Amino acid sequence: MTKAILVLNTGSSSLKFSVFEYDTASDLHLIAKGQVEGIGNAPHFLAKDHHGQILADEYWQDAASIDHAHCLLAIANLLRTKYLGIKLLGVGHRVVHGGMHYSAPILLTPGIINALDALSPLAPLHQPHNVAAIRAVAKAMPEMPQIACFDTAFHRSQSEINQLFGLPYSCFERGIRRYGFHGLSYEYVSSVLQQQEPEVAAGKVVIAHLGNGASMCAIQNGQSVASSMGFTALDGLMMGTRAGRLDAGVVLYLQQQEQLDVRQVEELLYKRSGLLGLSGISSDMRVLLASQEPHAQLAIDYFVHRISSELGSLAASMGGLDALVFSAGIGENSAIIRQKVCEQAQWLGIELDHQANKAGEQCISSMNSPTSVWMIPSNEELMIARHTRKQLGL
Ligand code: AMP
Repeated sequence: MTKAILVLNTGSSSLKFSVFEYDTASDLHLIAKGQVEGIGNAPHFLAKDHHGQILADEYWQDAASIDHAHCLLAIANLLRTKYLGIKLLGVGHRVVHGGMHYSAPILLTPGIINALDALSPLAPLHQPHNVAAIRAVAKAMPEMPQIACFDTAFHRSQSEINQLFGLPYSCFERGIRRYGFHGLSYEYVSSVLQQQEPEVAAGKVVIAHLGNGASMCAIQNGQSVASSMGFTALDGLMMGTRAGRLDAGVVLYLQQQEQLDVRQVEELLYKRSGLLGLSGISSDMRVLLASQEPHAQLAIDYFVHRISSELGSLAASMGGLDALVFSAGIGENSAIIRQKVCEQAQWLGIELDHQANKAGEQCISSMNSPTSVWMIPSNEELMIARHTRKQLGL
């Protein structure tokens, strides 16, 4: 009988899943993964096995009736029919925000689920959907242990200084502080560096998680020191559709002078800004790189400029820089963005090996570069599966 751990990563209009086989003798093996995209609009269910063979490829009608519960049933049915006798040991969830109190993966109880729901205003794009998936599993499989793995948890090692805003201290006490996100990605990439390049991992490292959501993290001896993201996943780098660092006065101006209400400001900052807003073309870096439009170039230049600024700031937080690591969709796939970032970071002792960079090798700095540069693919799902296994005591 195949024993497995199901990992769920739920977004506003998508539910991604991965199934890892558990075997006492070795690490976890991915046996299937897939997603439902276009929930609420034009749902498309696609699942593949670990060889890339398609297990399901369905466009669902009646979009209005398709919710997370429906998606979970489809995933459960798929596993039952394609993997006869499979036994799920537990479900691990990516939960974006753990707030002040959840600083490690945790076995979920009804009380904790309600507490996570109460954190939804801190991550309105993600948290409500994370909680909806947890509740859907609890309803469909009441006996199934569920583990929440938080994007904020990895950063709880940061000093108070790096979690503060210059607001009255009572705000900090109330939880208005810098949390940092993408922690599961940083934890995974750090673990790869630790395993494969322990000397590098022991130094002062900045990891750049450059995906649709993007952030950077300063890591010393494997521990998070500072992060570009703050109280919510809006701060720091410019992202696909999110503005990134912003003078808070802009928000006041939009409300007071331009009469935008709170929902309109939220929509602007989360969904209509970033690469999409600046370029007026797309949030997809591939589209912008292929475009001849001047505003596409402007958006790319500002994206790189913000990475360079954050890199300087994060290096300062550690008193130096030994290594820079690129990860996630843009960081893993775009040699030209890596090159542009490294060109602006020469003052930090970075010298790129252009051939290795174009070939997408793991080490992409030249032999003589005082600061080394790396490309390490992220795997948040495997990190969640590992945490889930540990929490289940396996
Ligand atoms: P993620 O959120 O990690 O899945 O990353 C999504 C982002 O990666 C999108 O902006 C994509 O445009 C970008 N991306 C994926 N492949 C490439 C590529 N070959 N070149 C540039 N950007 C890419």
